[in-house]
Amino acid sequence: MPNQVKTDQFRPPIVAVMGHIDHGKTSLLDRIRSANVTKREFGGITQHISAYKTQVKSTSGSPRSITFIDTPGHAAFCQMRVRGAQTTDLVVLVISAVDGVMAQTKECIKEITKAGVPVIVAMNKIDLENSQPEKIKGQLVEAGLTPEEYGGQVALIPVSAKTGQGVDKLLESILLHADVMELTDGATSPLSAFIYESRLDKSCGPIASVIVKTGKMTVGDTIYAGNIVCRIKAMTGTDGQKINIALPGDPLEILGFEEVPSVGSIISSQKTESTPLLSKVENQTISPTISDTPKLKIVLKADVEGTLEALKASLSDDVIILSQGIGAVTDNDVFLASPSRAQIFAFNVSVPRFIKNLADNEKVPIFESKIIYEIIENIQSQVLKLLDPTIEETTLGEAKITAEFKIDKVRIAGLEITKGRLAKGDQVHLSRDGKIIKDTKIEGIRQGKNVVEEIKMGNECGLTFKPYVDFAINDAIIAYKDEKL
Ligand code: GDP
Repeated sequence: MPNQVKTDQFRPPIVAVMGHIDHGKTSLLDRIRSANVTKREFGGITQHISAYKTQVKSTSGSPRSITFIDTPGHAAFCQMRVRGAQTTDLVVLVISAVDGVMAQTKECIKEITKAGVPVIVAMNKIDLENSQPEKIKGQLVEAGLTPEEYGGQVALIPVSAKTGQGVDKLLESILLHADVMELTDGATSPLSAFIYESRLDKSCGPIASVIVKTGKMTVGDTIYAGNIVCRIKAMTGTDGQKINIALPGDPLEILGFEEVPSVGSIISSQKTESTPLLSKVENQTISPTISDTPKLKIVLKADVEGTLEALKASLSDDVIILSQGIGAVTDNDVFLASPSRAQIFAFNVSVPRFIKNLADNEKVPIFESKIIYEIIENIQSQVLKLLDPTIEETTLGEAKITAEFKIDKVRIAGLEITKGRLAKGDQVHLSRDGKIIKDTKIEGIRQGKNVVEEIKMGNECGLTFKPYVDFAINDAIIAYKDEKL
């Protein structure tokens, strides 16, 4: 506990736990801290980066502490992971022994390598019959993390968050790494702590969640996050207990900042000009530029700065953020979105009824969710729709126009079915040189002299369209089903 007198020879290692979603990061952390966070989270994934210190038994029998930072599971949190990696001593990369190295695992490896932080691989889910540890070790070698047994440097610990198998070994390995790093207490060194979360509390004012790396803080001290001053009014441990003194490795919340400090800022006892450790994700806030590709314009609201940053970091270049902020959706947000035909995305914040009414009147869509990946997926699907209006369609069949006939002055297209099938009444796109030029419907199909309802791949037929389209030889016909309907 943060206010206990420390007997550790070394300060607790600060360990970021990362990994691809569903590989068992939360379960593993739960197993370690013997609490169940998963059920408390909406949608079952950890929404906010959070930290806790836990005591474990070392091989010598004496208790030692480890401070874990829980980095949320979505790829969106890449930026947070960078922060995690830059401010932590060690990363535990959780990889499912069933699924192996996946997209977010690769991203993590990239960030870890960039930050030069030592890593331990926790190969999870080894209790499952279909786990394939050997295959996954091979994948790791390929991804640049060669396990020790393959001649590399990376400790790989097979674990099961479900049965607890290997978890002690993992903790031992963390402590071993910490010993090698000689993370001496540093309580007498100058203060250095980093902010991993910050928010504005209605009644308490700005609150910063921090982890102390070196030095100490006492209630009443004056500290700085860059040039934001804080006379520490109160400090709270992650268990909610008030504390008077915070020492290296302690995660805690601080009250007393004059304004909300940026996530990623480094706290010191000297005023500095320093900007946050993390360059803010400003480059993701693309200013409107002249471009051929359409962009999705959004107003982004989130509950805390950490999630706002994570959301921003997840956005592609096809998104323009007109405005962003922490807290409830306001009339200003709606009025800002309306003239630009922007949409509002609200993560875990309230949207008052009168704002919903206002947005309806102004025809501003508001998408709200308490699940971060729902927001991200919705934004991504809007972007995809913008870039490719056919995204919500299922292709039923394709054909190429190879000939043209006229019967009773009616133009008939001669087609060769190249994919699937075409049927009478199908909605179709007429496509020329890869671009959709018209939409219409199939009025009738003739195969030889016979009128047919449907025609399959590999066959030839004659088609009429209604409404009429001015087709040409070599045009393509794509029959589709609109999944929205
Ligand atoms: P996260 O997204 O990485 O935090 O993954 P979770 O901890 O939420 O786990 C995803 C799913 O895998 C859940 O259904 C867990 O119950 C399951 N799971 C996690 N660890 C293990 C394990 O060691 N063995 C088995 N069999 N299932 C696991």
